[in-house]
Amino acid sequence: MTGGLVFHVVCRECPTESLRQSAAEAETLATAHASDTDHSVAVERIE
Ligand SMILES: [Zn+2]
Repeated sequence: MTGGLVFHVVCRECPTESLRQSAAEAETLATAHASDTDHSVAVERIE
């Protein structure tokens, strides 16, 4: 369904980063990290 899309979750304020194949998962991860740490987290779609 996602056809090989990858979502790169990257924190702009610490070395935390992760790859997810689901937008929902990426968003959850980004939100959780931002909530836990008050960091600014970006989600980038990689095709
Ligand atoms: Zn962080």
